[in-house]
Order: sequence, then structure tokens, then C-alpha cells
Amino acid sequence: MPTLSKVLEPIGETCPADLSAAEAVRRLNASGADALLVERDGGIVGLFGHREAIAAFADGSGRVDAYMRRPLPGRNIADSLESGADIMYREDTPVVLMTEDEGPLFRKTSRTVGIVSANAVLTEIGKTTTDTASNKVFVGRRDLSLNVPVSPCQRACPIHQDIAAYVDYVSQGRYLDSWLVIHETNPFPSMLGRLCNHPCETDCKRGWVQGPENAVSIKSLKRFATDYAWARRVKIDWQRAPENGRRVAIVGSGPAGMTAAQDLRLMGYQVDLYEREGKLGGLLSASIPHFRFDLDQLNWEIQMIVDMGVNVLLNKNVGKDPKLEQLLDDYDAVFLSVGMMTGRILPVPGSDLPEVISAMEFLRVRSYDIIPDNFPRGGDVVVIGGGAVATDAAQTSIKTGARKVWMVSIEPADRLPAFGNELVEAREIGLQLHTGVIVNAIKADDSGHVNGVEFIRVDETKLEFDPESGKLLINTVQKLPGTEHVIPCRYAIFASGQIMDFAQDQGVPLTPRKLMEADTGGHTKMTKLFAGGDCVQGPSFIVDAVAWGHRTARSINELLGASVPHDAKPLTVIESTDDHREADYYNREEPPILPADKRRDMSATTSARRRRWMSSFTGRTVTPRVGVSSKSAIPCSVKSLAGKPARSSSTMTAAPTAGSVRITARSTALPFSESGSEMTRCK
Ligand SMILES: Cc1cc2nc3c(=O)[nH]c(=O)nc-3n(C[C@H](O)[C@H](O)[C@H](O)COP(=O)(O)OP(=O)(O)OC[C@H]3O[C@@H](n4cnc5c(N)ncnc54)[C@H](O)[C@@H]3O)c2cc1C
Ligand code: SF4
Repeated sequence: MPTLSKVLEPIGETCPADLSAAEAVRRLNASGADALLVERDGGIVGLFGHREAIAAFADGSGRVDAYMRRPLPGRNIADSLESGADIMYREDTPVVLMTEDEGPLFRKTSRTVGIVSANAVLTEIGKTTTDTASNKVFVGRRDLSLNVPVSPCQRACPIHQDIAAYVDYVSQGRYLDSWLVIHETNPFPSMLGRLCNHPCETDCKRGWVQGPENAVSIKSLKRFATDYAWARRVKIDWQRAPENGRRVAIVGSGPAGMTAAQDLRLMGYQVDLYEREGKLGGLLSASIPHFRFDLDQLNWEIQMIVDMGVNVLLNKNVGKDPKLEQLLDDYDAVFLSVGMMTGRILPVPGSDLPEVISAMEFLRVRSYDIIPDNFPRGGDVVVIGGGAVATDAAQTSIKTGARKVWMVSIEPADRLPAFGNELVEAREIGLQLHTGVIVNAIKADDSGHVNGVEFIRVDETKLEFDPESGKLLINTVQKLPGTEHVIPCRYAIFASGQIMDFAQDQGVPLTPRKLMEADTGGHTKMTKLFAGGDCVQGPSFIVDAVAWGHRTARSINELLGASVPHDAKPLTVIESTDDHREADYYNREEPPILPADKRRDMSATTSARRRRWMSSFTGRTVTPRVGVSSKSAIPCSVKSLAGKPARSSSTMTAAPTAGSVRITARSTALPFSESGSEMTRCK
């Protein structure tokens, strides 16, 4: 068993005990060390790390010895590495003081000989540890490629997240390892940990039978592990296959395009990413309201992909300039993942008035922190539609300062297509619902400005719904004449569908629904052209788009047949085990949300609060930015937080170092085996 002497380091940064705490915080930041050792009378009497610095900062300045940690966590250099990890874990300390015994048995004294750091201990343990987690068989993973679905939840997840392993790591307190496992197939855990429609939880065996148990909080645990990694500003340093000389153009930087970009870079392809907007992320950054997730975390995840060497071309509207034909000439393959970013406005009388907008455009403009022209702050707004996009537009209107906001739908209140808690949360902050009606006309005053929306009642007893999707069958809608009525307002938002707006003169095969025609592997009828994500499937979910990205990258690799090295190791090594934790039972808990009165304020996002906190703590301003227009648009890591110890041991192939995590390439083992080579058209 290796001892702590193996990772012994000399005494690092020190400071005198009578130094002012403010000066100690400054020195700690400047040194980049995990902690300062506090000296008095030639001896080390305490430790001043980030935890103590936060207490000192909150409290004002006193002497450093008023805040330092004591007694100083210590160990003998003859103790085992595991005992070092144990004290670091229990005492939450980044550094342990090392002593060595001197003298004969009954007159033994000890002297200080140095320190060991959490990172050094964990890295050393990582070299000798074989991971254990329930339900996994190493041989199966190695032979059958990564993430062979073995449990109902993993099968239900479109990207086959290794749920059993990452949940198990959380239960062991190994949060960084959990985050790494999540990243095996999920480039956007900060988004999916908050916004996923989580089919995994629906299929979780713990929720199958009536009784005290509920489905495991798979989604929220993903968020937790990711928040933990984000707080430490770690970054995955992917080990990629050598460049193979093939060039791929990806059009659209939503979750489908970004995922494909990541996978193709891992396999050694040159990737040029064309994006029409001025920022990356697709609907994630340019539509989904930023109060629903942490924009800083999304940008961190996007930047990790860009840092793999993706060549980003912003403000490029492919189809207009450059033409698709040109890309097909210039590249070995082209992947269209252009989504459905345009909103539909129903052609009722008055729909061309200046205060009428589609929800997609409204949310897109708001995503740039701009208030759309004519938006009536202090006035009333009507949102036409009953789905998730309508709910987002309604909540955003409230947070942008509308006085009263109506959400109006054909469906009755108990059949609204909006899902999740969003509708409940929107109602808590003042959303008014009006259901069982269909829009008739937008009304204007004498000067041609919107002053109301006219609706007519529908016969709710005749409405029918698709048994599989639950969607309203529009041909069952019957208007009830004589029930016309007007809701007064100064602004109307149509959340009545999305359109695939890729230039139709480019020769891309389309389906009768005007979606792109491709099979589940992204193959179109044109050999070099691939398509996937919402533009093929229709409006869907983030996790589905990520799955499209993985599958299409694999299909492109199959087409181009680039050879990749076969000696890449699997990411984690996991053995089967009869783990006693399987018998444990914990109550399911939902993450807390802010009270309704705080949620009404658009600025009350966690990011905004964290930015305020960080800038005050470090004494320098971290500029809030919207989206990513270049590499430098990601807020740089805050030094005082980077390099905090990770309460995690490492796996055989993933060793945490200060501020970054190196992962062995997965270039031969893509997460998907079902690339869908037969032409089954998506409905
Ligand atoms: C308001 C709203 C809320 C949502 N909330 C959720 C949620 O909570 N949970 C969930 O799972 N899903 C949600 N979704 C759905 C999810 O965002 C989409 O399913 C997903 O983003 C689709 O990914 P994609 O990569 O296919 O396309 P997109 O994310 O739409 O990205 C397409 C990209 O292509 C670019 N592009 C388009 N045309 C061109 C061109 N000609 N040249 C260059 N670039 C082009 C676009 O600018 C865009 O960046 C929501 C959608 C909306 C609209
Ligand atoms: S990505 Fe979504 S479906 Fe997959 S494990 Fe996470 S929450 Fe579940």
C-alpha cells in the first residue's frame, strides 16, 4: 500500500499569523495556491484556504489567525494514501500537513516535513484504483463499445447515459467522477440536468410499483454533479485521434450540430461549424429563456467543444451565402442541423399589425437581452397557444414587465400540451389562462395599433386527441357561433408552431410536412449530405437532438471510412459488484426554486447572482455576456475558485488535476451502435 511519503511536497505559500485577513485573501489569489499555511514563532499553526477566505471576506477584515483553520489537519508520512484521502474528505481540506516521527519509542517527537495536496493524493490513488459500481461488467463495455444499455432507465434515455454509474458515484461522494461519466455521452449536462423531459425517470424501476418508493431523481442528480464540477471550473481536456485530413461542414450549432462537432473532432475530422446567429447553441442560447437554466454553464459546455479545435463561422446563413452546393463541393460531408427556429403566425385578420410577433422571434430577441419593438411594459399581452413555447413566451413577458399576461389555447386546461412545472410556475407569477377558444382576429384601434384579440369558443365535447402523442386532432375543432369575445391587450404573441425555414431552392429532399428527409442515422438521399435534429424530426427535445448528433457523426465516419487507432482505452473501468447501497432507500427530493415574487424579476437568475458574488469576492469584474461570439466570449475562470480540491477520487483513466480533467480518447468507441443505415423515414 503506497504511503503519503510518495506525494510529499515542500511547505508551500505561508503567511504570518498577524497578517490582515484582507491581505491574506489577496496573497492567496495571487499565489494560485490551494491554501496559505499560517506561521507563528517558527511553527505552522493553521491553514487559510478558500473556505476561510470566504468567511473572512463576509466578515470584514481582522487578523488571519482569527479565521484560519485549526487544528491543522495533519498526518504522518508513513500513513497510507487512503488515510490522506479520508482526512481530506472528512475535514474538507485541500492540504494536509505532514509530520515525521523522530526518536526512540517512548521519547518520540514529530517534526513537520511538508504538505500533501488533495490533487496529488487523488491522482496517485487514480493510478492504482479499479472502480466499482453496480450493474456494470467491464468485459461487456470493452467488447460492445461504450454504454451498452443494461437497465430500463438507460434504455429509455435517447443518449443511453450510464445512469447506474453516475448515480452510484454521487452516492459515494465522487461528484467529479459522476460528471465525467455523464459527459461520456452528454455534452450539455447543465441543460439536461434542468430541462430534460427525462424518459429515464418514467422507466425507473423504483417508480414502477405503488408503495413508498419513487423514481430516482436521475435528472436532478445530473444537475447536482454538473453544478459541483462548474463550481470548481474544471474542464475536460479530451485526448483526440490524430487529424485524418477529412473535412466536414456542420450547419447549425444547436445540440445536434454541437454534439456531432464534438464527436467528429474526437475522431480526427476537421470541423467547420456554420451558424446563422451571432452566437452558438441554437435554441438553447437563442430561444429557451435564460431564467430556466444557467447561461454561464451552457457557455462553459459550448466552449469545451469549441476548444477541441472546432472552426466556428458565425453569422453565416447557409443556403443564401454560402450556397449548399458550394459546401458539398468543398467538404467531404455536410451535416444540416438547422432546427426549426422560425415561428408560425396564423393568417387571421390583423396578424400583420406591428404589435404582433411570433413566440420564436420574441424569445430570440429577448435572448440577446433586447426588448422587442412595441413591447408594452406595463401593458397587457395575449399569448396564443398552449404549449411549452407559449409558456416560455408568457413567463418572459411577465418578467419583461407586462402588467397582465394571458395564455389562450384551444385545449381545455387539463389537456394543455405544456409539460413539466413551467405552467405551474408561470401561474404562480401571475399568468392568466383562457382555454377552449380559438383565435378569430387581432383587433386594432383607429391609429392601427393592437388593442385586443378576438376569440370564439370551440365545442370542447367534440375535441379528440392523438392517443399516442396526446396532441389535439385539429380536424375535430368545431367553432360555436355567437360566442365571439375580445381580450383587450396591446401586444399579441403567436406560439402556434415552428417552421423549418432552410432555403427550399437548395435541392434538399423534403417530406410532405416540409421537414428534411433523412433516416435515423442522418443519411439523406444525397450521399455526402446528412441531416438531423428538429429539422428532420420536427420540434422535439434537447436530448433527442444530442442523440441525432451522435448517430450522424457515426454515420459520417462510416461513409468516410477514416481509420482511427484501435488502442484507445474505455473511459472508465467498472466491475460488477454486489453493492450494499442497492438496498438503501432515500426519499426523492426536487431541487428548490425561488419564491414567486423573486421569480418575477428577470435579473434574479443564479448566474446574475453568482456573477455579482464572484466579482465582489475577487475584486475584479466578470463581464456578463450573452452567448458565445468567439472563444474569448466565455467568462474566464475566476482564479480564486479554480483549483479548489475535488472531493473525488479518480478513475483509472481520468485523473483530476488543478483546474482541468484529462480524459482518454473515446475515438474508437462511439456511444451508439444503432446508426440506422436503412432508410426508415422519420415521421
Ligand atoms: C422556447 C423553447 C423551449 C424549449 N424548452 C425545452 C425544454 O425545456 N426541454 C427540452 O428538452 N427541449 C426544449 N425545447 C426544444 C429544444 O430546444 C430543441 O428540440 C433542440 O434545441 C433542437 O436542437 P437542434 O440542434 O435540432 O436545432 P436548434 O437548437 O434549433 O439549432 C439549430 C441551429 O441552426 C441554425 N441555423 C438555421 N438555419 C441556418 C442556416 N441556414 N445557416 C446556418 N445556421 C442555421 C440556427 O440559428 C440554430 O442555431 C424548447 C424549444 C423552444 C423553442
Ligand atoms: S439525458 Fe435526460 S433521459 Fe438521459 S439520463 Fe439524463 S435526464 Fe434521463
